[in-house]
Amino acid sequence: MSANTAVAEKYRNNFLKEIEEQVEMGDWVKMCMQCGVCSGSCPTNFQSAWDHPPQELFMMIRAGKREEVLTSSSMWNCTSCYNCIVRCPRKIPITHIMHGLAEYAHRIGMAPKMQATRFFSGLFWKNATHTGRVNELKLSLGLYFKDGFVQGVKNGMAMQSVALGLVKAGRLNVLELFGGHKCKDQKGIHAMLAKAYEIERVRKAAKMAG
Ligand code: SF4
Ligand code: SF4
Repeated sequence: MSANTAVAEKYRNNFLKEIEEQVEMGDWVKMCMQCGVCSGSCPTNFQSAWDHPPQELFMMIRAGKREEVLTSSSMWNCTSCYNCIVRCPRKIPITHIMHGLAEYAHRIGMAPKMQATRFFSGLFWKNATHTGRVNELKLSLGLYFKDGFVQGVKNGMAMQSVALGLVKAGRLNVLELFGGHKCKDQKGIHAMLAKAYEIERVRKAAKMAG
């Protein structure tokens, strides 16, 4: 049984309870009085990438719209500017809930796979933890080729003058493609991360089991 099926079964017809128990600060959602100040204060919700501003997401949670909320790209577009928290008359930790929703959707496999922020987070994490140092060249190429080879070549062509400028200024080294800088104690970093993953895995398993 998938993680999503298991929790959907566990919280059948009670999506608000699921959010309260599984999402960071999710127990604040019921405090929202739908004034809309957060959505009106959000500097990014006017961009086309947003499906639902925060106040709408909270209303949808209470209305039991599980599929729509967990597959939404909205929480992935939150930039943590904290405008909403500062202005919310109920002092609801909106930013934390937005990130908590994104993490939960990811955890149970409901998050939109190719959503740009989600894709970049995964790419960055993999890149940075591989050697303990970010390889900017590989990171950029990974992003350029996100939508396939042809689009990747087009993206590369469009950015070639910027890349050449960076090479000339000594800010980009093409040899990074074949290795690149790394931390001295990579084994130590990997061991530390393995321990952190294990602690997180146990914590989340306990949360899911409730
Ligand atoms: S500002 Fe606060 S109370 Fe108003 S809609 Fe947003 S979360 Fe709800
Ligand atoms: S913290 Fe996120 S949701 Fe809140 S106003 Fe900023 S971008 Fe919008």
